[in-house]
Amino acid sequence: MTVSPERIQELLAAVPTELLIGGHWRPAASGKTLDVLNPATGEVLLSISDAGPQDAAAALDAAAAAQEAWASTAPRERGEILRRAFEAVTARAEDFALLMTLEMGKPLAEARGEVTYGAEFLRWFSEEAVRSFGRYSIAPDGKSRLLVTKKAVGPCLLITPWNFPLAMATRKIAPAVAAGCTMVLKPAALTPLTSQLFAAVLLEAGLPAGVLNVITTSTAGETTGDLIKDSRLRKLSFTGSTGVGQRLLADASHNVLRTSMELGGNAPFLVFEDADIDAAVAGAMIAKLRNMGEACTAANRFIVHESVAEEFSSKFAARIAELTTGPGIEDSTNVGPLIDEKSRQKVHELVSEAVSDGAVALTGGAPVAGEGYFYRPTVLTGVPEGARILAEEIFGPVAPIITFKDEAEAVRLANNTEYGLVAYVFTRDLNRGFRMGEKLETGMLGLNAGVVSNAAAPFGGVKQSGLGREGGLEGIEEYLYTQYIGIADPQA
Ligand code: NAP
Repeated sequence: MTVSPERIQELLAAVPTELLIGGHWRPAASGKTLDVLNPATGEVLLSISDAGPQDAAAALDAAAAAQEAWASTAPRERGEILRRAFEAVTARAEDFALLMTLEMGKPLAEARGEVTYGAEFLRWFSEEAVRSFGRYSIAPDGKSRLLVTKKAVGPCLLITPWNFPLAMATRKIAPAVAAGCTMVLKPAALTPLTSQLFAAVLLEAGLPAGVLNVITTSTAGETTGDLIKDSRLRKLSFTGSTGVGQRLLADASHNVLRTSMELGGNAPFLVFEDADIDAAVAGAMIAKLRNMGEACTAANRFIVHESVAEEFSSKFAARIAELTTGPGIEDSTNVGPLIDEKSRQKVHELVSEAVSDGAVALTGGAPVAGEGYFYRPTVLTGVPEGARILAEEIFGPVAPIITFKDEAEAVRLANNTEYGLVAYVFTRDLNRGFRMGEKLETGMLGLNAGVVSNAAAPFGGVKQSGLGREGGLEGIEEYLYTQYIGIADPQA
């Protein structure tokens, strides 16, 4: 079964195509538009406003003007807006799922999963909005009182990537709303439609004008460059590649901005000799294939004990060979297209290089001919240790497998990367599981689990995978600063 063209047209007609500035939808000052394409067909879905620096400045004007009143609203009021937004996104789950499938390519079943995940940030932070506590204490010398409070950081610039169009937006917007910050959101040029629809839902949920401003643009650097240097901006929260993150961190130093950086990953997936191999294969399917491998958390290197490598590889390859690639709107599809031709070429380059260096493709290993940017899900064994495919983010449905002899070697291989977002460990030995938590240099660890994302948990990395945490108790802290008030003791 597939989705009817009428249903698609009806949904697209409901998506705002202009910039959201100060509570109004309006065209870009230049009158320019940008085309949003369907990666399964290459066809244009919608043309939307293409903002430039002038629009970005207007968006920050609106955010700065709204900041004081917004930060003074009752926390419960902000929480209720998020709760209503959660209910609305959940009620319109099918719309959001279809829109993400259309602009990003992921299969509908996965897009539905992202709606649930993305909406959870709205629910979680609706509950956190009323739990931003400070403290009061007597100074050690007894001569004064110390009052510590939390305050909204102020206007934030939020920049999101194309791979999780809803969840990456809600993961930033929900804690900012809860904390009382105003925002300028710049979604990815490849997948801005979901953010546009979500912004409309937030307005319907009662978000006051100017609190969230959305600028869609094809010229990210030029359009947001001046904002980052504007002294009214107080925070930059970015999710995307490490290269762009590094440049933005340098720019953010101009104003000593608060920054949160959710950057690239190169997740090791460790399978120990005592692992439940069937469970490891099931975990590997999720850790590798979710989002066609286009996830910062995607397992990028399978590091398997030599005694179980053959069993794991053959079972994994057999499961992968059963997958159907196709447009995400078709029920039979397990793996959608990659986001664009450039990404597909990069994936194929990494695979071809590994194969010419001696790796063997147990299944896949090539693009799918025809329209769309499809790539055959691939399992590679015998990948040499220095191969580029082990060092770079693959961002595609390709699983390179290497082997290890003992735990020390597994840890050395796993940590041999400048990234440190997440690792996956499959073992039946709980002590070893905890030991891996201590030894692996990552912000997150999946223990006998192929997915770690959870709105109630702190998501984020170490090393070049980033700074700060999104979700969990930590998530709201990124949007608050601590103020201390020293009170003289009137009796002293
Ligand atoms: P990207 O190229 O770095 O782009 C991310 C966002 O930054 C997009 O909105 C992009 O706009 C914008 N951007 C690019 N250059 C900019 C500049 N000079 N100034 C301001 N904004 C700029 O990354 P991507 O290809 O969209 O996403 C994939 C990457 O994101 C991967 O590395 C992945 O690991 C990472 N990621 C990390 C997490 C995490 O939580 N750690 C989650 C998801 C993805 P345009 O769209 O216009 O280029």
